Amino acid sequence: MVSEFDLIARYFDRPARSAVLGVGDDAALIRPAAGMELAVSADMLVAGRHFLADADPAQLGHKALAVNLSDLAAMGATPRWALLSLALPAADEAWLAGFSQGFHALAERFDVDLVGGDTTRGPLNLSVTILGEVPAGRALRRDGARVGDDVWVSGELGGAALGLRHLLGEVALNEAEAAACLARLHVPEPRVALGFALGGVASSAIDVSDGLVADLGHILERSRVGAEIELAAVPADAALAARLDAAALNCLLAGGDDYELCFTAAPDRRGAIQAAGATTGVPVSRIGRIVAVPGLSIRRPDGSLLDMEVAGYDHFAG
Ligand code: ADP
Ligand code: MG
Repeated sequence: MVSEFDLIARYFDRPARSAVLGVGDDAALIRPAAGMELAVSADMLVAGRHFLADADPAQLGHKALAVNLSDLAAMGATPRWALLSLALPAADEAWLAGFSQGFHALAERFDVDLVGGDTTRGPLNLSVTILGEVPAGRALRRDGARVGDDVWVSGELGGAALGLRHLLGEVALNEAEAAACLARLHVPEPRVALGFALGGVASSAIDVSDGLVADLGHILERSRVGAEIELAAVPADAALAARLDAAALNCLLAGGDDYELCFTAAPDRRGAIQAAGATTGVPVSRIGRIVAVPGLSIRRPDGSLLDMEVAGYDHFAG
């Protein structure tokens, strides 16, 4: 049987281009550039909770890293180094080849070095720790929203959640819709360039992993403010826009896994934000504003307020 050390050497030991020392020693050595702060984050994907055990391994490799890159994007940080901790039920080499290929392809695209990790036998569990750099004082935090700021989101929301409903047999998408929504669910694109461009422009940011209501809620709580959102301004995934019933509305407002950015900025930064969206090729939509009254209200086109039972997905409630 292939040993743990052979597996690491075969699938995870890659030359570290930007670390002083990468995989192979008791610890990696990294040297952040002068004037930079380190942004550090970890995200875990658990079989049966975040993905199905028979999920495509290359897509899992992509997603395990992508969700971590997304956290750094939401901080306005540039990802540099990653650690990968794996619990594997067996040394399945076909699975490892696919997984590592998906992981390394995304890492290479974002110039991220895999510098270490841990590999053990156990129920399938994928844990990535990501480290990045952000100019000192420029990180986009959740506590920076101010009364009068605009609220923005990137891209389109709800597609990943609709894809999951399709997989569960709860909606029937046509072939093109299913392909697009499943790509959003399984191969999310982290908004790293946009996050970086928003540094010094946005007042706060978060990535939409648990749904707009829940994630914007974190900004509001941290910033001790409220928000008023115009439902018609919330950018819906194309497949959702075609069917705006209650289930679709739930995907749009409370669906997780989109990995778009939700952020706030003073109204005099509108031009700068449109420019950031244009230069990074990611559409940005202004969806509402920050108010002093705590809580989140969402207004329908007819002026009525939406029932906020459409809460974000909660891992401990679900
Ligand atoms: P230790 O016994 O010191 O924990 P390990 O045998 O677990 O060392 O790991 C050996 C080297 O391989 C270390 O540099 C570790 O960071 C790296 N490593 C282990 N698993 C992974 C992995 N899944 N991906 C990347 N590097 C890994
Ligand atoms: Mg170890």
